[in-house]
Amino acid sequence: VVKVSAQGRIAIDMDEVVADSLGRFLDIYAREFGTRIAREDLRGRHLFDAVPAEHREAVRGYPRREEFFHDLDVIPGSVEAVRALSARYEIFFATAAMEYPNSFLPKYDWLHRHFPFVPWRNFVYCGDKSVIRADVLIDDHRRNFRGFEGRGLLFSAPHNLLEEGVERVRDWAHVCELLLR
Ligand SMILES: [Mg+2]
Repeated sequence: VVKVSAQGRIAIDMDEVVADSLGRFLDIYAREFGTRIAREDLRGRHLFDAVPAEHREAVRGYPRREEFFHDLDVIPGSVEAVRALSARYEIFFATAAMEYPNSFLPKYDWLHRHFPFVPWRNFVYCGDKSVIRADVLIDDHRRNFRGFEGRGLLFSAPHNLLEEGVERVRDWAHVCELLLR
């Protein structure tokens, strides 16, 4: 059954928008290097830029590990918000999964587990998100709005907190405020 929505289509990124991949980075880093880095320490920068130079390569390699994408925590409020949005909009998950082929199956299983009301036809794995056509794209990387013709909403994550000149959403409650009025 194809649900046609009067209000349009929303494309939603996964990592750091619905899936807490940063939490996984911080956990692995704490376990392997013995230093617990807090999210507050990452204001305006990525974890790679916050660790000693000699740790950077290791950190960049974390997502290529088999277990990285398994059982990621859900970003607070996302399930309830996406469920509410799905009553009015067509929802697609759009993830640049191609960078990490080991993520394909875990991401698929994860979406089914946490967002069972979004059908698999609405899962989009891509390399470059400029192929996405939607009315709204919610993403924590503004580079993904390049070439996007709809409304880009920058979902706040530590690394993007200092960015300006882009429409920002603080959290899922804020998304609902904007899109479910
Ligand atoms: Mg992301």
